[in-house]
Amino acid sequence: MSAGPLEGRGDARLYAGAERTFLEREAKEMTKSSGYAAYSSTTPLKPYSFERRDPGPKDVVIDIEYCGVCHSDIHQVRDEWGGSMYPIVPGHEIVGTVRAVGKEVTKLKPGDAAAVGVMVDSCRECASCRRGLEQYCEQGMVGTYNAKDRNGDITYGGYSDVIVTDEHFVYGISPKLNKAAVAPLLCAGITTYSPLKHWGAGPGKKVGVVGLGGLGHMGLKFAHSLGAHTVQFTTSAAKKEDALRLGADEVILSNDAVAMTKQKASFDLILDTVSAQHDLGTYLSMLKLDGTLVMVGLPEKPLALSTGIICVPRRSIAGSGIGGVPETQEMLSYCAEHNIVSDVEVIPIQKINEAFERVLKGDVKYRFVIDLASLKEK
Ligand code: NAP
Ligand code: ZN
Ligand code: ZN
Repeated sequence: MSAGPLEGRGDARLYAGAERTFLEREAKEMTKSSGYAAYSSTTPLKPYSFERRDPGPKDVVIDIEYCGVCHSDIHQVRDEWGGSMYPIVPGHEIVGTVRAVGKEVTKLKPGDAAAVGVMVDSCRECASCRRGLEQYCEQGMVGTYNAKDRNGDITYGGYSDVIVTDEHFVYGISPKLNKAAVAPLLCAGITTYSPLKHWGAGPGKKVGVVGLGGLGHMGLKFAHSLGAHTVQFTTSAAKKEDALRLGADEVILSNDAVAMTKQKASFDLILDTVSAQHDLGTYLSMLKLDGTLVMVGLPEKPLALSTGIICVPRRSIAGSGIGGVPETQEMLSYCAEHNIVSDVEVIPIQKINEAFERVLKGDVKYRFVIDLASLKEK
């Protein structure tokens, strides 16, 4: 692919004809990237150098400053969903600064703060894409990493220093908010905001959030902010005080059988963010007539379901995947307006393997975010 003209590095029109090779050489240099990758499902992540695609006219080149660590990164690095393509450079909660833009880019300009989330392309033509639900593209969205893009090239994520992304999948972010704390909004934020809005969380509704991790703590903040009576379920007694501080009206320890029984048939909506095996019946029994349990967690193995519990009274079990481009931008604006960000622990990239282990133990408050400036350190 030939180099696209890149504003911010001089006006491309000046480099027509004989000078074109200069631009191509410059663009090639821009696409060199370094980061951390998993080389197999059982070995620690380590440094990796690779090339990004040559930027095209609609592409934005972003110097990555922060990237959140999502549990999906661990699932994919460890091949828990199958089909992982190594080496994997994980990371889909990306925040940085625009270095350059192609000549047809209108949304952003060099120097702007920008973000990239879980997807970097879709067909743009199917019914879902036309509705701004690119995550449900009928041809399949292109994931930010561990996916094949529409040219068949493997995508690499944000545990790296630079990314080249079509402007459609790049978001503007408010300068008011802390950049590191914004990063997790790009996955944990939108994945919880979207179902809460879709199923009408708000005043007069009782909403439960299961699991107080990266997704869970954002779900809790949003449900509270939207005005719902919000109940946090957790397996971790040590997180009780935090849950109250983050906006829970009630916190229930899921191993407290008496407290759990008291919640029976009382919820309009429960958002289940758990990343591992757990009993669905417990939470389904807490839904009232026409209540919905929305699964956003993606455990490695299938979960069992006794259908009687959804038949009487009429209950629903549903799922939800991230959010589309317009809703992601809406969520980022909502966060700027309501001063909502993620609670983060910022780490250097060299601590990534330790961070994975700590996420698996539930030992993070409540999202690790990598400071990519650390890539330059040995
Ligand atoms: P996380 O930070 O590890 O949080 C998961 C939480 O689940 C833990 O903090 C823990 O909360 C609870 N938990 C863990 N193991 C449990 C068990 N065996 N039984 C009961 N509760 C348990 O993970 P995350 O980044 O929030 O991601 C959560 C899940 O969502 C992952 O499977 C991820 O792949 C998936 N995901 C889905 C989407 C989507 O679009 N649908 C997007 C992003 C992520 P407590 O300590 O409070 O119990
Ligand atoms: Zn994620
Ligand atoms: Zn589509």
